[in-house]
Amino acid sequence: MSKAAYEKPTIIKIESSMSKGGVPKLQQKIRMHIDGIKITDLTKEYGSPLFVFSETTMRRQYQKAYKAFSSRYPNVQFGWSYKTNYLKAICAVFHDEGSIAEVVSEFEYEKARANGIEGKDIIYNGPYKPYDSLLIAAREGAKIHIDTFDEIHDLERVAQELDMIIPVAIRMNMDTGIYPQWSRFGFNIESGQALDAVRRIEVGGKLKLTGLHSHIGTFMLDANAYKMQTTKMIQMMKEIEKTTDFIIEYLDIGGGFASQSALKGVYQPPEVIVPSIDDYAEAITSALYENLEPGNYPKLYLETGRHLIDEAGYLISTVVANKSLPDGRRSYIVDAGVNLLYTAFWYNFKIESVQEHKGLMEPAIINGPLCMNIDVIDESIMLPRLDRYDNLVISPVGAYSVTQWMQFIRYRPQVVMIGLEGEVDLIREGEDLSDVERREVMPERLER
Ligand SMILES: *Cc1c(COP(=O)(O)O)cnc(C)c1O
Repeated sequence: MSKAAYEKPTIIKIESSMSKGGVPKLQQKIRMHIDGIKITDLTKEYGSPLFVFSETTMRRQYQKAYKAFSSRYPNVQFGWSYKTNYLKAICAVFHDEGSIAEVVSEFEYEKARANGIEGKDIIYNGPYKPYDSLLIAAREGAKIHIDTFDEIHDLERVAQELDMIIPVAIRMNMDTGIYPQWSRFGFNIESGQALDAVRRIEVGGKLKLTGLHSHIGTFMLDANAYKMQTTKMIQMMKEIEKTTDFIIEYLDIGGGFASQSALKGVYQPPEVIVPSIDDYAEAITSALYENLEPGNYPKLYLETGRHLIDEAGYLISTVVANKSLPDGRRSYIVDAGVNLLYTAFWYNFKIESVQEHKGLMEPAIINGPLCMNIDVIDESIMLPRLDRYDNLVISPVGAYSVTQWMQFIRYRPQVVMIGLEGEVDLIREGEDLSDVERREVMPERLER
């Protein structure tokens, strides 16, 4: 039997302010299963760290959100926000539920097409759409949402080249009581810029305005902002229909509904401050009914990303080492860091233990495996003494993790999805050296 290494004892005062939210939670949070599958079986089979997605949660979130809107308004279509998570299997689940695709680059456009989505079922957003991609999108009948005057110019050239009138929408930004305001995307309403864009499109004579779009931000905790947004968009719609020949067939409200995550610096728990999907739906549809003429109901598009996927994603990690820091805290080094959780800079995740320990709770910090001081997953958590090779489950991490993750210092790990019947499928293989070096070219003179 090997003897445990000796470590000089330190006496520390455990202050309640050292834990999040003021009151220390003196109960170790335990999770041994995801959708009935034992977590230790998953790591045995697929290794650690490991991203796990629950198809059950994804479909439940989608169906609940779709019902919240379709039960209130007759003409609703969801578009899956690719940048939130564009793994093929994830997109396939949302497309299967009835979502079209919402993309913000030519790369995401190609990905949606490769997923079998037709151009007409792609919403093409974003501040930079290369000319060639506009040409393809226009030819394939995509819903192109214009972001700048330069893009109006580009699209008019495309229309000339294709000898067609291109149906388009414009993205707009506005004051909805949320600060800082996202004013860099699309055309501003209050300054008159949005209306100028409409006039510019009208004068050009090569594009036909058929929709209005706006996406006011992400993780929006105020449902009322959507009511203001929707109201202002309808006012624009009326103004446009009164003063031009354009008919607005659809309003696209964007995404941004919050998930059950905890934004840093926000101290109430998500259960308390995150509006329900019904709150968001009520805010938007009540604005529609209050401002639209009865019988004239344009199609409503939603581009919800985070809210549909965040809770479906877990990251399983393993404690690879631990040490005590000079300030008395214990630092656990785990095999998943900010390379996999770019979002750790903004969110405090829920961290649950897979193995139960009875010991005294003590303040700890959870560090990732990177040789970088900023690699912190949780800077203040109460935990009993964990053993080496214990597992921690980090959640919710379904939104933006597997798109914003970095190949930095370590390989990206495997990703699995647990299906409705408890089947576990690998949906992305872990990377190795060949993935990292695939695009590198070695000049012959440096070869050895
Ligand atoms: C990112 C994005 C979305 C999705 O936002 P969520 O906060 O994930 O719901 C929708 N529309 C546009 C234009 C976006 O850029």
